[in-house]
Amino acid sequence: MGELYFKRGLKMGLFSKFKELRAMIREVENSVYGEKQDYSEIYERNLQLERDIEERTRELSLANKRMLSLQHIWDMMNSSKPLQNVLETVVNSFQGELGYLHSNIISKSKDDDGDYMYILAQSRDITIQQVNNIVKTPMQLRRLPYIEGGIFEESLSSKKIIQTKDFKSVFQSLIPEWTEEMHKKVMSTVSSKSLIVIPLYTMNKPFGWFCVFSSREELSDVETDFLSIYAQQIEMAITIADLFEALKEQAVTDSLTGLYNRRYFEELLQKEVVRAKRQNQPFSIIGLDLDFLKQINDKFGHSFGDLAIKTVADVLKRNARSIDTAARMGGEEFNVILPGIDSKGAMAAAERIRKTLEEQRLDTIGRITASVGVATFFEHSDNIDELLELTDQAMYLSKRNGRNRVTMATPISETSWQQIAVNTFVDILSKHNIPIDENLSKELQKKLQESSNENSPKDALFSVADVLTSSYNPLHSQGAIKSKVQIAVSLAKRFDLTTHEIDNLRIAMLLYDIGNLMLPPEILQKTTPLTMEERDRIKSHPIIAAREILKPITYIQDVIPIIEHHHENWDGSGYPNKIKKEDIPMTSQIVLIVDSYFALIEPRPYRARLTPESAIEIIQQDAGIKWNKTLVDEFVNLIKHDFS
Ligand code: GH3
Ligand code: MG
Repeated sequence: MGELYFKRGLKMGLFSKFKELRAMIREVENSVYGEKQDYSEIYERNLQLERDIEERTRELSLANKRMLSLQHIWDMMNSSKPLQNVLETVVNSFQGELGYLHSNIISKSKDDDGDYMYILAQSRDITIQQVNNIVKTPMQLRRLPYIEGGIFEESLSSKKIIQTKDFKSVFQSLIPEWTEEMHKKVMSTVSSKSLIVIPLYTMNKPFGWFCVFSSREELSDVETDFLSIYAQQIEMAITIADLFEALKEQAVTDSLTGLYNRRYFEELLQKEVVRAKRQNQPFSIIGLDLDFLKQINDKFGHSFGDLAIKTVADVLKRNARSIDTAARMGGEEFNVILPGIDSKGAMAAAERIRKTLEEQRLDTIGRITASVGVATFFEHSDNIDELLELTDQAMYLSKRNGRNRVTMATPISETSWQQIAVNTFVDILSKHNIPIDENLSKELQKKLQESSNENSPKDALFSVADVLTSSYNPLHSQGAIKSKVQIAVSLAKRFDLTTHEIDNLRIAMLLYDIGNLMLPPEILQKTTPLTMEERDRIKSHPIIAAREILKPITYIQDVIPIIEHHHENWDGSGYPNKIKKEDIPMTSQIVLIVDSYFALIEPRPYRARLTPESAIEIIQQDAGIKWNKTLVDEFVNLIKHDFS
């Protein structure tokens, strides 16, 4: 029993000990494994937390970047930079880091052919590069179709942000020649997932769109909010720029000098003409241009250039009577109106101004001088545009004769077209409006200036025009310009044109192709057929360039339209404005026919010269198409009888 007890006791004890031990082991085991479970849970939780923190940091940094880019627009808006610069910065700052691959601002516009859109600013990036590489005309130069029911119209009319993944439809709607192949090519290199179109409204009127290529397929609420705010900032930038422009329009004074500005001067001049005619009283204009301002700027810096300008303004203010009006016409050009003063009085006043200016001693710069021209209403002309032209010409004569002097205008009837042409060429050459060798330019100016002291500077004019033409057309034959002018004038005399119109035609004949100087020589001298794009450039560019080159030359404004229209065809198929028949100035038609004839009888890089007979035949074929039939008849007559 005892044993049993013992045994049992032992047995029992062992068993319970064993059980105890098992329990303890399980406890240990449990605690070991349990903790292990805790550990992995904690570990998992930590990982998740880290991921969360990372995600939040990313969001925060994105939010921060968004804030910064908003701040950036704000700064730009306050920088008084031109709107174009503001918008370009806006679209360029909007890329990359924010997860956007391309962005642009599109404006909606309207012309005779209806509504259209054009890109006002676009970011410079691989996306746009890829598209521009594929299409013929770069996107920013295109007139983009505005399609009813399209994504752009939809977003504008609903005032909603629209996101689409269907790039193909969008490209097809914007670019008529967009093919499947082009699309594949672009999409294979561009990783955009969606296009977001945000409507822009300024002063409650539809303006256009802010378009964004996104690397994300979805658009979260936060992102939508951000894009809306961003678009609002763009709208504000545009509105401010518009208001600023409107304000500038209303201003009557120039901020640097406090003198009246050109706009005000022109208004006042109109009134002065009315008054002068009513009271039969003269008035005079003094035109003044600072000498060598460019050198002052280059040598001492722009602020000293400004000081020189302000000094002129002070001298003008001090020397003016209370009824005189001095204005800064722009840059370094000033005009004064002297009511009731004849040319003698005006010359005296101008001389006083010149002398006072010469006697100033400026900080750092020292002495400054100006060249002055004087013209008087009635005495020199009773036409206000002519009077301003004459003032300008007199001023240029002062420049040419050594600067720091006053010159009186010559009445219009005595100013020969040759003198105007000489002045024009000197102006073009000395103002560096065209890219030509500095030494050549100086040589030509010298030649012109020497010739203008003689009675007839005609030959100098022809040879300068020949030299300029040869610089972009090596096959140009010397002497051709002279013949062209002679033929054009003989032809003009067979029609009902005034002496003034014929004089303008002579000047136009010397200048009509001057815009070619701005074209790349590779295109002009290409011997293989031109691409469409090259042909477009050859067609419109020179006319635009000629207009730009000649625009600043105030006294030949009547010549510019002749040049502008010298590629318009009788049937309206010409360029740049596609005007037709009598809408085309007769003088422009004459330039075209003479130019075409000479083009045919001169060799070209891609073909030999034609005989006069074949050239005439070709011209006759286009009678009624390119040119008026009567003009062709007279032209053929002239060539056959007088010039063969
Ligand atoms: P010229 O005697 O033939 O008139 O020579 P110029 O150097 O005065 O004339 P040009 O027409 O060659 O150059 C005019 C210069 O005037 C170029 C332009 O940068 C400078 N200019 C125009 N407006 C301002 C201005 O408001 N401030 C300053 N500092 N310079 C100006
Ligand atoms: Mg000057």
